[in-house]
Amino acid sequence: MESRELLFIEPTQQKSAQPTLDEITRKMTAAYRKTIEGSLVNGKIEDIMFMGWHECVCGAMSDNTNHVLPDSSMETNSLCIHYLAWHREEVPAREIEEVKKLSYGEEEPTKEELQ
Ligand SMILES: [Zn+2]
Repeated sequence: MESRELLFIEPTQQKSAQPTLDEITRKMTAAYRKTIEGSLVNGKIEDIMFMGWHECVCGAMSDNTNHVLPDSSMETNSLCIHYLAWHREEVPAREIEEVKKLSYGEEEPTKEELQ
């Protein structure tokens, strides 16, 4: 399986006035809580690779590791929920479709996860 990266984006616009808390954001939240720290290499989860902190245009900070779904279908980062909630307009439609396909249920994000 090819490793797929989800939500490694760099928004250029300021964040929206209110976070978007819909099915998409909640699905990502549930999936994110299942991720483990690591990196996908040829479809397998390898040891943690430290990627360095990343700062969003609005000042939100990521942690310094990637986060991989337990079935190793997807790799994301700790700002994935933030991007969907605050920068939805800049998330590519293709990635929204990928999030819709996640099957880890739906959970409400916390303040910390939203940043
Ligand atoms: Zn942001």
